[in-house]
Amino acid sequence: MNTFIRNKWRSYVGETVSGFYVFDISSQVTANKDGSPRYDCRCTKCNYYQIKSQSELTNGANGAMLFCSNQVCPASRVQHPETESLADLRRQEREQEARTQREQAARQMVRKQQVAKQRSERADKSRWLALANSKLKSGLEIDSPEWVSFERWQRWSSEFQADILRRVAEIEKKIS
Ligand SMILES: [Zn+2]
Repeated sequence: MNTFIRNKWRSYVGETVSGFYVFDISSQVTANKDGSPRYDCRCTKCNYYQIKSQSELTNGANGAMLFCSNQVCPASRVQHPETESLADLRRQEREQEARTQREQAARQMVRKQQVAKQRSERADKSRWLALANSKLKSGLEIDSPEWVSFERWQRWSSEFQADILRRVAEIEKKIS
């Protein structure tokens, strides 16, 4: 039987046709209606075992695309580009979500920094006010060259500010 088949039909056994390795003439399904053999094949992409007919392999050998019967195989008829684009979409959604979270965290950080800056500026200003009030009480005019504006005060080091405030406190103590 196999001798007859081999003589009449071009055998693809041992060849790889359009992504399918043909390893034998199928013993499960001996032949097609026209007497041509069926072949035991293995998909080279997923190793899924399947039977291909003589005409399928002939078409494949002539450049036609053969599809894998394993639905999850990229060589199957199932439209994988669509599932890939769906996965792509989900990945983009996840990335967008992560981006949004990062941006929110960054905004919160900026807000926290602003609040902290305002708080320290208020504290700084109240310390400066002690100096400014003391100067005003001593009769110093705001347009005097000795006047210390808040901007000038802010340029001083915290050690120098502390030193000044100590002296202001001493003066205030003497006055009262
Ligand atoms: Zn396959």
